[in-house]
This record gives sequence, C-alpha cells and structure tokens, in this order.
Amino acid sequence: MRFLPILSESEQPSSYFDIWMATLPMSPIEHGATCERCAMIPYDAEPRPETTTFSFRSDVKCCTYMPSLPNFLAGGVIMEQRSLHAKEVLASRIDFGSGVTPLYVERTALFAHVYDAARSAFGRSASLRCPYFDDNGRCGIWAHRDSTCFTWFCKHGRGKLGWEYWDAVRTYFQHVEQSLAIHAALSLGVSPSTIGKSMQYHRTASGERVVSEIVECERASLGPLPSSYNEDWSLYFADCARFIRSQSTIELFKVLGSKGQALRLVVEERAKALTEGSWPSRMKLGKFSIKRLKTGFYQLISFSENDPVAVSSDMWDYLSLLDDTTLDDLIRNAPSSTREQLTPQVIRTLMDYGILVAVG
Ligand code: SF4
Repeated sequence: MRFLPILSESEQPSSYFDIWMATLPMSPIEHGATCERCAMIPYDAEPRPETTTFSFRSDVKCCTYMPSLPNFLAGGVIMEQRSLHAKEVLASRIDFGSGVTPLYVERTALFAHVYDAARSAFGRSASLRCPYFDDNGRCGIWAHRDSTCFTWFCKHGRGKLGWEYWDAVRTYFQHVEQSLAIHAALSLGVSPSTIGKSMQYHRTASGERVVSEIVECERASLGPLPSSYNEDWSLYFADCARFIRSQSTIELFKVLGSKGQALRLVVEERAKALTEGSWPSRMKLGKFSIKRLKTGFYQLISFSENDPVAVSSDMWDYLSLLDDTTLDDLIRNAPSSTREQLTPQVIRTLMDYGILVAVG
C-alpha cells in the first residue's frame, strides 16, 4: 500500500479505498514511493546514479493536484473529527459553489485548466499545491482521498508492470466512485435529470467550464437538491457518506454492474502479469528515451520521468546495439564486464521497465 504523504505509517488512518483493495487479488506495496523522505527530492550533494534528474519541490511533493471528491468522500471529510484544515477548505469550496454538484465537489475549472496546460510543472510548482495539503506537509483528507491520490506512486517496484497495474486499479476505482455517488444521490432523492446534468458537467473539459466559473458561479444550473435539504450541501454530502457506509459490500458490488466486472477483470489480468515469472523465447529493445547523467550512467525512461532505470555506460553501449535475441545469447554475447552485470534480476528489471520487451 502507498504510505504517501506524509504521516508515518502507524499514524495513517485507513482509507475508504482500503476496503476495495481488500476485494482485489493483490495489493502490492510500493516500497520505493517513500513519502516521509520523498524519493523525488535529491537530499545528497552527489545524486546516486539511479536518482532521477527530475525532482519535486519539498513543499509540495506529488501534491500538485486537486481531487474531485465524490459526494460520499466529501461527506466523509465533513464528518471526520480530526482535520480542521481540510474541513475549512471543503467548506469554502462548497461556499464558492462552482463545480459543486450532487455527485462531486469537482476540482475548480481554473485549477484543472492550468493543471492540464502545465503537466510538466507536476511536483514543481507551489501554484499547483493541493488545497487539502496542510502547512505541516500532510494530506488533510487522507482517509477520504480520491482514486487518483490513492493509486498514484512516483516509483514502482515492478516498473511499468506496476504502473499498468495501478492504472487499471485507478480506472476501476473511478468507476466505483461515480457509481456509488450516483447510487447515493438517487437514494437521497436527487432527480435523474439533475444527476444527468452533473455527469455531463463532470465530463466537460476544463476549458469549456473555466469561463462560466470565473464569470459567474454556475452551481444553480446543477441543482436543486431535494427540498428537505434546503440547499444545505454539507448536510447532503454527510448523508451521502452515511448512506454508503450503511450499505453492504454485496449491495455495492451490484451497483457497479457489468462495467465494474469488466474493469475488475482488467485489474486481475494486470495482477497476473505481476506474478508471472516466465522468460520470453526472444526479446528486443522496447521504446524509451535516454538521458546521459554527469556520473556517466544513462537513464532509460520508458513510462515515467519519475521512474527511470539507470545503467552503466558499458551496459548501454551493449544494449544500444541489441537486435532480436534469445535470453542465452543476450548473456553469452555480452563483453565480460557487462556479462557480470547481467544477472537474472537485472534482466528482469529491464523487462519490467519495458527496456527489453518480448518479441511477438
Ligand atoms: S488530496 Fe491529499 S494526497 Fe491528494 S493531492 Fe491533496 S494533499 Fe495530496
């Protein structure tokens, strides 16, 4: 499990999605994503060869993101006793109004627009700091963070394979979020047409939302709540959380429907790929970019700049000339100094990170 920002493991409250992780076939622990001592911040004067050349700011780490909280998670924050900061942020977010719908407290359109336009600023800009990140460098809504925060890691023990696994979990959990948010809203009496408008809003690109957000608050067009709430959105979100907590896992699984089953099967497939240990009969170089480090090492970046593989210059000289090969030939044809480095563990890592890929 990801013990990310920011509390020590023993202090971490369990998250809503821990319950759903327990229903999946595996829950790999990403030991490399160390938030107490962020793996993306260079602490040493001399960076290690495997250290990425791309680093994060220590005052934001990976929290240069703003989640869209589904109604039942927003309600969890409201009912939570421990995080005053997060409660205040959420209260002012609800008060602001724009993007507050019966299904989600959406991230603001302005934030989403800047975030989408400046992806390379991730981890490096205080302007993108998550409002729920408190002054002590802690996530104020840890137990109620969204599917993206729950499944994102800067580093993966099994490289691209791990990244693909968590990507599938994220897609599945995004479906869980939306399905349960709709289930709660319908059960509390929100009209189907209002839910339809909220879903449409959730899908609308930030660029189309941003003008109406900065010119006028548009929540009025996404309401109303059932009259019993008297437009008390905080009470409504808290009731969503209470309602979802009252449902059994079996009832919630039914709400996910056949799409939920299909997305879960994708997660199971990716989990299987993580446990398979066989070698392909032939392999070749995959697709990746290369950076030469001052140390003489080379970084090979296949799926994320946060998570490169570093190899010695000898190793790169050999790999760069590689053609379609068998495992035996890969080892046999290497110069002796490189052959010593080509242990089964190293070859497995090169495959996990997509530097070597199976032919066919
Ligand atoms: S919700 Fe928490 S984990 Fe997610 S970006 Fe904000 S502070 Fe970080």
